[in-house]
Amino acid sequence: SIAPTLPDLDASSTKITRSTTLRDVPKPGSPEERSHSYCTDHMVTVRWTAAGGWETPEVKPHGNLSIPPTASCLHYATECFEGMKVYRGYDGKLRLFRPDCNGERLVSSCKRASLPGFNPQQLKHIIAKMLQVDGGRWLPKTEPGRFLYLRPTVIGSGPQLGVQVPQEALLFVIAVPWPSPAQKGLKLLASEPDSIRAWPGGFGYAKLGANYGPSLLAHGKAQSIGFDQVLWLFGPDRNVTEAGASNFFVVWKNKETGKIELVTPTLDSKLILPGVTRRSVLELARAKLTKDNEGLAPLEVVERDITIQDIEEASKEGRIIESFVSGTAYFITPVALIRNGDVDMEMKGASASKVGYADLIRTWLESIMFGREEHEWAFVI
Ligand code: PMP
Repeated sequence: SIAPTLPDLDASSTKITRSTTLRDVPKPGSPEERSHSYCTDHMVTVRWTAAGGWETPEVKPHGNLSIPPTASCLHYATECFEGMKVYRGYDGKLRLFRPDCNGERLVSSCKRASLPGFNPQQLKHIIAKMLQVDGGRWLPKTEPGRFLYLRPTVIGSGPQLGVQVPQEALLFVIAVPWPSPAQKGLKLLASEPDSIRAWPGGFGYAKLGANYGPSLLAHGKAQSIGFDQVLWLFGPDRNVTEAGASNFFVVWKNKETGKIELVTPTLDSKLILPGVTRRSVLELARAKLTKDNEGLAPLEVVERDITIQDIEEASKEGRIIESFVSGTAYFITPVALIRNGDVDMEMKGASASKVGYADLIRTWLESIMFGREEHEWAFVI
């Protein structure tokens, strides 16, 4: 017999319950904003069960979750999440940036953690329902250029302690005022060979909480000696994979050809999170930087393996032009220095004082996010 089709995630049926006690909206730069823990007035929750499928989405007052101490996510790390932002545009509109990419990545992460899938396009519509309630007060029209960080999350919430595929799950979305990323150059500390973020056959490509918790040991150590992020290396060749919770880029002169290249590691190894910002950087660079632009020399865009040795060599030979990381939270942030063992590499090349490639890319992305340019990557709420 054919199993009946269970209900999919359906934003159009969302039930909205408004909060009667509204919180103060923190000022930019305030301690509340810097706490990264102060949420807006409302949240989304949607329950799923193996027997009944996705239930009605709810937008309701923000509050604590109630799950049993036996819940699957608390014991077996059945958890995955997304990181997105909502932007208040200079035209007064609210926008999400390529939200279908986040929806698809969340479904891919759910699959890896045996959590339920759903129609990925529904995620943006559910978020829109929440922001129609919170957007006006938390991102006032009079303050364009501001944003909130959004955290869609799926957890295994069922009570069965026996090791098994989750039979119940909860999708929730919260919104958090977030400080603007500092544009000071980052200091990256290359990981030690005994500290590995992701491995072949593992789940580095998925946004599972299980990728992050165990990485905090190295992150904490790096921070305690003045570094911002760990540059995660992998394997006997010590391939560069990613930098903290962001993807890594370097602009250098190719050793053989002398041509300028924008280089980032390929996704083929499945060790690296396929960043939405990474993909956008590559697409913009391929469209706009392969010819003269704003006085910068044209470059070639290359996805290839990079070893830390390649970077050391390029640094020694004066071939590094720039380096930067890309991500939703960090956006496009320059890298100032990489330390590998006892070798320090300055990543600011000769063009450091002028407008660089990363600056151009940042400006192009911002103009899409904040509606200075109409673009298919923006989803207007
Ligand atoms: N790598 C990791 C490990 C991350 O956590 C993130 C943040 N989601 C990124 C890269 C950047 O991805 P995105 O551009 O989609 O934010």
